[in-house]
Amino acid sequence: MAILSDIHANRQALDATLRAVREAGAATIWCVGDVVGYGADPSYCLSTILARSERCLGGNHDLGVTGEVSLDVFADLARDAVVWTREALGPAGRKTLQRLSPADPDHEVPMFHGSPRDPVWEYVLQVEQAREALEDRRCPLTFVGHTHLPSAWRLTPDGAMETHIPVPSGPMELTEGRWLVNPGSVGQPRDHDARAAWALYDPEARTVEFRRTPYDVAAAQNAILEAGLPSVLAHRLAEGR
Ligand code: ZN
Repeated sequence: MAILSDIHANRQALDATLRAVREAGAATIWCVGDVVGYGADPSYCLSTILARSERCLGGNHDLGVTGEVSLDVFADLARDAVVWTREALGPAGRKTLQRLSPADPDHEVPMFHGSPRDPVWEYVLQVEQAREALEDRRCPLTFVGHTHLPSAWRLTPDGAMETHIPVPSGPMELTEGRWLVNPGSVGQPRDHDARAAWALYDPEARTVEFRRTPYDVAAAQNAILEAGLPSVLAHRLAEGR
């Protein structure tokens, strides 16, 4: 199956990723949240991912658009994009977005947009945060998103932590212990690689493979500029930051 996160209303990146998912032979998609915000095509991305995914979380941007989290907590750029997205989605789109929760804990493979203790806002970047997230969950595998950085951590059976950043290429075996995996961002990568980031998870082989997919960045940038969204949101896509 394919794990997608932080699509951020980037239609071009989502379409290219869905093609790559099909080519990889993955029939099932799980989405770890932030379907909208920053990009120019929130309605398309929301309806497409809801039609295609078996599980789909809402992230801080999605909850900002629905009003479940206050606009005051967003940085200026993000807030401008949230306000624009509210208008673009309209009442029906906002209502659809309200169905999404930032946490899906009661699954064999739990998912949280941020982290188990703070599904909306925590950015898991440091190994000690990963440890706390893994100690919180007695599960072999948990997916998170939110940081836009592909990453993986392992809590070994003897209590040591392993960090896998940058992530390996090729299938990574989910060895004994507990794993916390972030597939990175489809629609706004921030690891200085402009390509869409996502992951393949094979439950039978017990592997995760981090993937990158090129897409039409210029078209996504033009859509952002034409929509009147802040131009920095267009420019950063080319740099992957
Ligand atoms: Zn995000």
